[in-house]
Amino acid sequence: MLWDTSEGDLEIKNAEKSFVFRPIETTLAACIAQTEGFSSDAAVLLTDSPSLSAEAAALDIRIQSISRTDDILPLLMNDARQESNAWSRSLVRWYLADHRDLPWRRTKSPYAVWVSEIMLQQTRVEAVVGYYNRFMTRFPSVQSLAEADIEEVLKYWEGLGYYSRARNLHKAARCIVEKYDGRFPETVDALLKLPGIGAYTAGAIASIAFDVPAPAVDGNVLRVLSRLYALWDDIMTEYTRKRITALTEANIPLQQPGAYTQGLMELGALVCIPGHPRCDVCPLSADCKAHMLNIEEQLPVRIPKTKIREQRRAVYLFFDEDKVLLHRRPEGTVLGGLFEFPGVDIDECSSQDADQRFFEEYDIRPDHTVRRGEAVHRFTHIHWHMTIFSSDLSDASCVPENGDWLWADREVLDRIMIPTAFKSAMKLVKQRFSCI
Ligand code: SF4
Repeated sequence: MLWDTSEGDLEIKNAEKSFVFRPIETTLAACIAQTEGFSSDAAVLLTDSPSLSAEAAALDIRIQSISRTDDILPLLMNDARQESNAWSRSLVRWYLADHRDLPWRRTKSPYAVWVSEIMLQQTRVEAVVGYYNRFMTRFPSVQSLAEADIEEVLKYWEGLGYYSRARNLHKAARCIVEKYDGRFPETVDALLKLPGIGAYTAGAIASIAFDVPAPAVDGNVLRVLSRLYALWDDIMTEYTRKRITALTEANIPLQQPGAYTQGLMELGALVCIPGHPRCDVCPLSADCKAHMLNIEEQLPVRIPKTKIREQRRAVYLFFDEDKVLLHRRPEGTVLGGLFEFPGVDIDECSSQDADQRFFEEYDIRPDHTVRRGEAVHRFTHIHWHMTIFSSDLSDASCVPENGDWLWADREVLDRIMIPTAFKSAMKLVKQRFSCI
């Protein structure tokens, strides 16, 4: 099997067949390519990509139609397990030969691993070292921490911020002493029950201190694995986190889970850094698909959540016998260029406020305004909370004759596309027309 790239496309080919995947599809392509040749048992199909289904069929790849994320993960894990784990071996070798000498790395004590991991959350390594040394000198064991007064613990935390971390540390220490007789629980499930310990910390403690092959996935690992596997999935989603957790777990070398966990952390902190990764000194460059495709700086994909604006809006139905007034929305706005029942953004939904805003906007003064109903329409970035009014025009001659305003009768309304945002308003108009 050969990999070839041009302008971000990915080509997979053997002696008889070849296929080019567009960049957005390289995730699937990578999954397919991970399998043994083109006749794999475990090619993965993402069901929301129907075109790929036919394409994969053309490659004689056995397709499994998968509708739930949970179905995909075991396949991915099998794929990864069948691989030689070349990159994880390189990672462990590199870590063992070349890691930074940090105080918490000189021991496998679960207490030390735990304290350091909690301190390192949202805090740089350089800032943590001094705090860690002072903390461990004063509270050298889980017993000493459990016996301490919370005020003193907080004092030793002062300056690190996020004080709930210190409170949870103290609570969890008491819990370990009371429930486990001072011995750290060794399983991920038990660790997860302790205050302040989430999946990442549990995985880190279990793998580093107890050699449990448990994945520890934080932002660094999401970035590294996204690049290693050239994943175009948005790392902000639960699906991607699960997928990367599965890949991380599948590649854990059973002999060295702790070095593997720490190796990923170290690589993410020093080499596979955000923005411009240092691929020239990376021990995984030979196995890194993003590097092969020259897309490492485009990954990981992080789609910011769009902030939704809640906007009140007054929508007017101006009737003139058997006609209703329409207005063409300005280009460059929501529904730009389409006809609407004219309206304005408002702060208050009183008719007085709305009438005044409408007059300021269009130089047309509504008269005898009556509230007819409410409607909500959700666009991607904005939610319109509409109050629908019917109104007369104080002076019909104020309506500009410039093509942006139109008196529409029933027939015209049937011909013109009115966006579904105005479905409720349209219903009111039709009711009125049916009474004429
Ligand atoms: S080769 Fe580059 S992108 Fe790939 S893992 Fe290494 S540093 Fe990251």
